[in-house]
Amino acid sequence: MKYFSLNNNQHKSNFEDAVIRGIAPDKGLYFPERIPTLSKDFIDSLLDLGRHEIAFQVIKEFVGGEIPDEELKKIIFETLDFNFPVVPVEDNISSLELYHGPTLAFKDVGARFMAGCLGYFIKKGNHGKATVLVATSGDTGGAVANGFLGVEGIDVVILYPKGKVSEIQERQLTTLGQNITALEVDGVFDDCQRMVKQAFLDDEIQKKRMLTSANSINLARWLPQMFYYFFAFQQLQPKKKKLVFSVPSGNFGNICAGLLARQMGLPIDHFVASTNVNDTVTEYLKTSEYKAKPSKATISNAMDVGDPSNFVRILQLFENRYENVKNALSSYSFDDEATKKAISEVYQKSGYLMDPHGAVGYLGLKQFLKENIDFEGVFLETAHPVKFLETVEGVINEKVEIPEPIRKLENKQKKSLQISNYEDLKGFLLD
Ligand SMILES: *Cc1c(COP(=O)(O)O)cnc(C)c1O
Repeated sequence: MKYFSLNNNQHKSNFEDAVIRGIAPDKGLYFPERIPTLSKDFIDSLLDLGRHEIAFQVIKEFVGGEIPDEELKKIIFETLDFNFPVVPVEDNISSLELYHGPTLAFKDVGARFMAGCLGYFIKKGNHGKATVLVATSGDTGGAVANGFLGVEGIDVVILYPKGKVSEIQERQLTTLGQNITALEVDGVFDDCQRMVKQAFLDDEIQKKRMLTSANSINLARWLPQMFYYFFAFQQLQPKKKKLVFSVPSGNFGNICAGLLARQMGLPIDHFVASTNVNDTVTEYLKTSEYKAKPSKATISNAMDVGDPSNFVRILQLFENRYENVKNALSSYSFDDEATKKAISEVYQKSGYLMDPHGAVGYLGLKQFLKENIDFEGVFLETAHPVKFLETVEGVINEKVEIPEPIRKLENKQKKSLQISNYEDLKGFLLD
């Protein structure tokens, strides 16, 4: 499989180079030259297939033999060693729980798969040692650190803003050790991101280290997010009605993977992009005009994005035609008050506890079903509610039980290096 840059379809790359680079030299996102179709036999036999077999069949053509089948199966096996249950919440509404991985967020899937692929390419030896450099406002850092822990030939350096991430998130970043280094930045998330960008442009650093990023535009993080749409479809058999997925969206990588799965032949009838007040795409669907906005802070902070990076991939999937996008996708936006109200009401009515991101997904689904009664739907629960403990406990007025992977972190030693400016970062990377 070849991938072209969405800035220039003449620039092409294979899977390996696209994964190593992350983004094309002209700063375009990579997109597959051709969307593979899955056979009807495969779709009909989904019920009988195991998770790992499904994932292998779905991703195989995208990897295009650049990772040997046995190796790819091993990566899949290590990526998907937890469950993806579909849990009924109300009539016609279920939750697809994506938070049973090691850091309790759906980003574990993409981060682990990417770590497996990059680890393989580095071990093969054409590229030398790599340093994954990331800035995090919370969730990404933990998933990346965990995914890359112990991967040979790769060092991970994570910048996070001092005092601006939750205690649980900080523990997930700072207690791992081995090839993971956490840099605690005296500043806000934007400072972290600016320093990372500057490092990528710094020749002195580039000469010394091969830097690569692990953000959601990397193919190896984007593509494996297709897997769990298949797992959900499998669990929903037999379907009673038409099927809609509601995806709480920020950078729109997760929903774009679902749309890709649909394009390959998975029978999903419709998608809902549920957003918080960062409603750039909701407005686009209303007006057909895309206007990026500055981001606004909300309680579903992993979706505080005013200019979603994967939106260009969605346009490409639909041949850049507004009508096509509109046929497959609806979008609704909700503020923090509505989100809290949903968490509280659903908890009282059915005992099901949602995190703020899942709650936005629930609200979008509910809205869509109001106007489309011939559908049943699934919303994606993208993080465990305990990751947003203060918000959630404040809303339901109860203590939430802390799950095992988090409790285990409590007696571990925090280890981080304090830095306050770019020179500190550079010094560390050149040392
Ligand atoms: C990253 C994240 C999202 C948004 O996913 P995108 O692929 O960026 O749209 C939603 N919920 C949680 C909990 C996240 O961490």
